[in-house]
Amino acid sequence: MEQFIYLDNAATTKVLPEVFETMKPYFEEQYGNPSSSYMFSGKIAGKVEKARESIAKFLGAKREEIYFTSGGSESDNWALKGIADAYSDKGKHIITTKIEHHAILNTAEFLEKHGFEVTYLNVDENGFVNPAELEAAIRPDTILISIMFANNEIGTIEPIKELGRIAHEHGVLFHTDAVQAFGHLPIDVNEMNIDMLSASAHKINGPKGVGVFYIRKGIEISSLIHGGAQERGRRAGTTNAAGIIGTAKAVEIAATRMEKRTIYERKLRDYLIERVLKEIPYTVLNGDREMRLSNNANFCFRFIEGESLMILLDLSGIAASSGSACTSGALDPSHVLLAIGRPKDIARGSIRLTLSDETTKDDIDKTVDVLKKSVERLRGMSPFYEAFINKQK
Ligand SMILES: *Cc1c(COP(=O)(O)O)cnc(C)c1O
Repeated sequence: MEQFIYLDNAATTKVLPEVFETMKPYFEEQYGNPSSSYMFSGKIAGKVEKARESIAKFLGAKREEIYFTSGGSESDNWALKGIADAYSDKGKHIITTKIEHHAILNTAEFLEKHGFEVTYLNVDENGFVNPAELEAAIRPDTILISIMFANNEIGTIEPIKELGRIAHEHGVLFHTDAVQAFGHLPIDVNEMNIDMLSASAHKINGPKGVGVFYIRKGIEISSLIHGGAQERGRRAGTTNAAGIIGTAKAVEIAATRMEKRTIYERKLRDYLIERVLKEIPYTVLNGDREMRLSNNANFCFRFIEGESLMILLDLSGIAASSGSACTSGALDPSHVLLAIGRPKDIARGSIRLTLSDETTKDDIDKTVDVLKKSVERLRGMSPFYEAFINKQK
C-alpha cells in the first residue's frame, strides 16, 4: 500500500501530539486518584477543575455546569434517561428527530419500552428540521426536546438557536447532541438556548473514551452511573484525569484553530464536491450545500453499493465510510438518507468523506481519481446500470 489517506474524521480523529504530551505525565508520574485527600492527588484534582473551567468557558457555560463522562454516547444516554426519570411526573413525551445518532435513537427506543412516548420529527430533503413542525409537536406532557447540532452523516447544521427558542417558549428542556459541532463551530449555550449538550473528545483530536456533558444550573436530572461522589455526586467513577486534561488541551487547540481550519477545510471540501459531481455521472450530494460541516462530503452514486465502493477505496489506501449499517449480515441503507427522501437503492450507494486540516489537495485529487475508476468498475458489473444505459440509447 502506497500512501494512506484518512477521510473518516467524523468517525474519529488522531490524537494531536500536543494533546498526547499533555496527558502523558498523568499516566507516568501523577497517577494518583484525584478524589484522595493527600497532596499527591490534590494537585491533580486542581488540574481537572482547570480543565473543566476552560471547557466551560469555550461553551459560554459555568464551571459547575460541565460534567465528564465516558463519551458522546454516555452523555446522550444521560440526557434522555436522566431527564425521563426526573420529569416523569410532569409528562412522558419526548421529541427528537429521525436523523439522530444511534446513541439518541436507541436510547429513545429503550424509553419507549418503559412507557415513554417519542415523536421523531421528519427533516426536509437537505436534512433540516422545520421549526414549525417542532412547535406543532410540543404537547403539555412534553418534557424534553433533543435535536442534534450537526448531522454526523450528511453534515447538515440545524437551526439550533431557533429550535431552542421554541422549546423554551413552551417551557420544555432542550438538549443537543453537539458531538460533530463541538470544536468545529462556535457554540454559546446561553445565546443558543441550550439546556444540555453532549460532546466527545475523540472527534476533536482528543482521547477516546472522554465525553463532555453540559447541564444548565438548576436542572434536575437523575444519575446514569451510580456509585461514588465524583462529578458533584452526579456521575460516579474514578476521575479520568489524563483523559479530561487531554480533552481540555484538544478543546484549547480546536478553539485557536477553528476559524483558519474551517476556511481551509471548506475550500478543499468544495473542490472535492465540485470534482465528484462534475466527473462522476448519476451522483448526488447529500446534505445542504451551504449549511454543512466544513469537513463533510457525502454522495450517493447510483447503481452501486457504498459498501463495495468503500472496500475498493480501502484497497487503494483511502479510509472512508459507507452510510450503510451492517445488521445481521444484511446491508441496511442509512436511516439519515432515507429520512431525507433518498430511495432505498440510491441510499445504499452512499459514501461519506470527512476531511481534516491535515488533508491536502493531492489527497483529494487521488481520492477523486480512485472514486472515478471504482465507480466505473462497479457500474460495469451492475445489470441495473447496463439496463439503464441500454434504455438511454
Ligand atoms: C460519534 C458520535 C457520537 C458518539 O460519541 P462517542 O464518544 O463515540 O460515544 C454521538 N453522536 C454523534 C453525532 C456522533 O458523531
